[in-house]
Amino acid sequence: MQFNTCMTDLRKPAMAAGVDSSAFDRYAMTVIPDMTVLPLLDRQPEFTTAIWDYLAGLVDQKRVDDGRAMMAKYASTLSQVQSRFAVDPATVTAVWGVESDFGRINGRRPLLVSLGTLSCFGRRQAYFRSEFFELLKIAQRGDVAVEDLKGSWAGAFGQTQFMPSTYNRMAVDFDGDGHRDLVRSAPDALASTANYLLKSGWREGQPWGYEVKLPAGFNSAQAGRKNRKALSQWQAQGIHRVDGESIPLEPDTPAAVLLPAGVNGPAFLVFRNFDAIYSYNAAESYALAIALLSDRLRGGSGLHTPWPTDDPGLSRADRVDLQRLLLKRGHAIGTPDGVLGTASRAAIQQEQQRLGMTVDGRAGQKLLKALRDGR
Ligand code: CA
Repeated sequence: MQFNTCMTDLRKPAMAAGVDSSAFDRYAMTVIPDMTVLPLLDRQPEFTTAIWDYLAGLVDQKRVDDGRAMMAKYASTLSQVQSRFAVDPATVTAVWGVESDFGRINGRRPLLVSLGTLSCFGRRQAYFRSEFFELLKIAQRGDVAVEDLKGSWAGAFGQTQFMPSTYNRMAVDFDGDGHRDLVRSAPDALASTANYLLKSGWREGQPWGYEVKLPAGFNSAQAGRKNRKALSQWQAQGIHRVDGESIPLEPDTPAAVLLPAGVNGPAFLVFRNFDAIYSYNAAESYALAIALLSDRLRGGSGLHTPWPTDDPGLSRADRVDLQRLLLKRGHAIGTPDGVLGTASRAAIQQEQQRLGMTVDGRAGQKLLKALRDGR
C-alpha cells in the first residue's frame, strides 16, 4: 500500500524528468518492492581489505590472460575506439576486466525492483529516485531489453557497471544497431568506457604513471593524489622509474606520489590519466588495479617492489583452491566460487585457530600452504 502510494506520487516528477506516461505505467507501476535491498544500504564492510589482497584478486594471472585474449579478439574494435575516443586498448580492456570480468559478471538483481524499492524506502531516496527515473528512460528508449536490466543492488549494471544516469550521459552505440546496449554489446561497452575516460580528462598517449623508486629519507608527508607538483620537482628530489627508463612528459607536468602501503611498499608517480581512471569509481585502490592491469596487458611483468607483507594475497584461482581445501576439511561453505563470503571467512577463522595462526578470517598464502601441506 505504502509502496503503491509512493509510486503514484513519483509519476509527476518522473514525467518532469522525461519519462513518458505509458513507460511509467509499464515499468514503474508494476514493480513489486524487494525489501532485501534495504539492509545492503546500511551494511558496513566486515573486513578492511589490505591493498595487496585487493590487487591479488583483481590483477591475477587469469585476468591478465583473459584480458590479452580479449584484446586480440576485439583488436579491430579497440583500434576504432582509440581513433574516436583517444584511449588505448589496454586501458579500455583493463577497465572492462575490473568492472565486469570482461562482461561476464554484470550483476543479477532486477534493477527496476531495486531502484524502485530504494526510491520509496530507506536513506538517500532522492538519489535513488533520480537513478530510477534515468533507468525508466533506458527502458522506454529500448536501449536494453527490460529482462536484461539486472545489476548490483545499488543500480550499477552492464559490462561497464555504469549507474543509469552515467549510462544516459556516456553510453555510445558503437556497433551501429541503433541501441546503446552496454549489457549485450561488447563494442558499445568498450566505446562507452573510452568515452567516459575521455570526458574525465584523458590525455591521449600519456601514461597513467609509473612505479618509482624513492630517494632515501623521502618525506612521505608529500604523498597523496591531490598533492601535485611539477614532474621536475619530484625528479629533483631523486625520484625515478624502477626500470631506469626516462619519463616521456614535459618537466612541468603535474604529478603526485602514491604510497598505497606506506614508504616500505611500492611507490607510484601518477599523472592526469590516473585521475581520469579514478573518476570512474572514486577509490585509489580501484584506479591502481586498473592501471596495473593495463600495464600487464601491455606486456609489463608486474611490480618491482614487493608489498610489505610476509603473507601475500590470493588470486581467484588460489581462493577457489582454498575453498576446496576447506570443504575437504568438512566446512560447509557451499560451492567453491572464489568469493570469500561469511561462511568461508568463518571456516578460515576455525582453521586459523586450529593451526595457531592469527584468527582474523583473512585468506593469505600462509593458510593456503598449510592446508595444501595437510597440516
Ligand atoms: Ca549498439
